[in-house]
Amino acid sequence: FGSVRALHKDNRTATPQNFSNYESMKQDFKLGIPEYFNFAKDVLDQWTDKEKAGKKPSNPAFWWINRNGEEMRWSFEELGSLSRKFANILSEACSLQRGDRVILILPRVPEWWLANVACLRTGTVLIPGTTQLTQKDILYRLQSSKANCIITNDVLAPAVDAVASKCENLHSKLIVSENSREGWGNLKELMKVFLCHPGWSTVARSWLTATSTSLVQAILSLLSSWDYRHASDSHTCVKTKHNEIMAIFFTSGTSGYPKMTAHTHSSFGLGLSVNGRFWLDLTPSDVMWNTSDTGWAKSAWSSVFSPWIQGACVFTHHLPRFEPTSILQTLSKYPITVFCSAPTVYRMLVQNDITRSYKFKSLKHCVSAGEPITPDVTEKWRNKTGLDIYEGYGQTETVLICGNFKGMKIKPGSMGKPSPAFDVKIVDVNGNVLPPGQEGDIGIQVLPNRPFGLFTHYVDNPSKTASTLRGNFYITGDRGYMDKDGYFWFVARADDVILSSGYRIGPFEVENALNEHPSVAESAVVSSPDPIRGEVVKAFVVLNPDYKSHDQEQLIKEIQEHVKKTTAPYKYPRKVEFIQELPKTISGKTKRNELRKKEWKTI
Ligand code: ATP
Ligand code: MG
Repeated sequence: FGSVRALHKDNRTATPQNFSNYESMKQDFKLGIPEYFNFAKDVLDQWTDKEKAGKKPSNPAFWWINRNGEEMRWSFEELGSLSRKFANILSEACSLQRGDRVILILPRVPEWWLANVACLRTGTVLIPGTTQLTQKDILYRLQSSKANCIITNDVLAPAVDAVASKCENLHSKLIVSENSREGWGNLKELMKVFLCHPGWSTVARSWLTATSTSLVQAILSLLSSWDYRHASDSHTCVKTKHNEIMAIFFTSGTSGYPKMTAHTHSSFGLGLSVNGRFWLDLTPSDVMWNTSDTGWAKSAWSSVFSPWIQGACVFTHHLPRFEPTSILQTLSKYPITVFCSAPTVYRMLVQNDITRSYKFKSLKHCVSAGEPITPDVTEKWRNKTGLDIYEGYGQTETVLICGNFKGMKIKPGSMGKPSPAFDVKIVDVNGNVLPPGQEGDIGIQVLPNRPFGLFTHYVDNPSKTASTLRGNFYITGDRGYMDKDGYFWFVARADDVILSSGYRIGPFEVENALNEHPSVAESAVVSSPDPIRGEVVKAFVVLNPDYKSHDQEQLIKEIQEHVKKTTAPYKYPRKVEFIQELPKTISGKTKRNELRKKEWKTI
């Protein structure tokens, strides 16, 4: 396969991109699709070779810390060796075949990364899930994905056991824990002792079905003194076709039940090079920290494929809860050069006194994605850190669709320009391309050639998959427009657009205006029924603590006046309601559909 090797050969990963202009960057992006491609073998193992030959900076491949001050660093060689052992456990102890499905629900522990690579090596299909899932969510995921194996921890194992009998495909369970659990293989122990000898595979298999935990304990105690580095790490990576399914990601579920999105080995394994090179601007000298939860495609984007394809170090902090001060301290203490986080995180970070208390010595590039980031946040971040936030736009279904790239002028509030991976256009209801300035559906051209970097289908949902196609385009479900300079502007999810008195109003612009008012901590704007206008703009507002005791009627008038002055007056919220907090997805996105449903039910 030529593509990633070409990246290495031309040393294209070695220097920051900094293209003088956007067109030269697009020209530079040429990746052919090889017939066979496996990220573990074709990317990670190549970095190991470079590392051994001293042709790569001495950065680790993986750097993990936790709040107790524990730290773990792996070179590419160590990552390779450990992930091969893990791969053997999947094939032998868990009896998994290529194509079998593995649900992985772990917090940010090193084993999560090993599992990712082990699945690649064995050709098993990875399905990540967030640790915040409830028993009901786990059942939904296990059943709908027909998973054959689950890997999780002590906290979630009881929930799995409670529903396992309803999941007919589930035949093996691996726990990442210091303790053994009946009916589960213990990953840590298996890593220590398994595969010293082929005969151990039989022993290990019996553990998984063991009814006697005392037998397991006896074997474990006998063998626990063995250092796992002595265990065999010999494993031959499967030869996967580029278009074989590599992983299934659940969408965030912002607009309904999460959808299962299938990606091939090339769609993310190769496609995400576009994120790594251009948006994240990574080189092998970089240390990249992405804070997103391990359950989302965003982790595959920025905590696995994009940094490693560039040979950069994946940094992670096992923070059980979101703590702004821990994030700020970590950025100060460790040599993190590239930071990626969600808009809500930046919003909370800028509320801290960053300038006086923290100094980010190494940080040079900050990015955000997942939701629009409001200009007031980017401005505060710039004032406090001297750094811009390079917003990116994409979906679980895609790699980066639009982004702001280094060397390109940032227009605050814009998602930037199309990523080199896609031809992005604004299209109308018939699939015709609309001219600059006109709002329409954001589409990606898929005919005559479907670009890689795009999902193949929603699993077991052909009608949903078909509904995303219109004319020559994949329709993202988001509305936007392109300005005359080729910058894309997000208007709203198609479902969130408000139609009032013949006007189409996107909630984002109204929320931007609201958020600029000093009393507003957060806001969400949705349609609300109105006997004359059909629907009107309604704002749900979370007040800053200082304003909670103010006269609410007066405050509503002030806020309405402020929006009328800040944006086109027809967009101002005719209805305003103060609430304690906004309904959010687990990943922190505002669920406008929930607020909208509530509004329309109360007619
Ligand atoms: P579901 O599809 O289940 O409703 P979701 O669309 O939120 O959930 P994701 O794939 O995680 O699931 O999110 C992609 C969506 O997030 C995009 O379609 C878009 O609506 C929004 N998004 C991502 N980045 C941006 C951005 N920079 N600006 C505006 N919206 C963004
Ligand atoms: Mg979506």
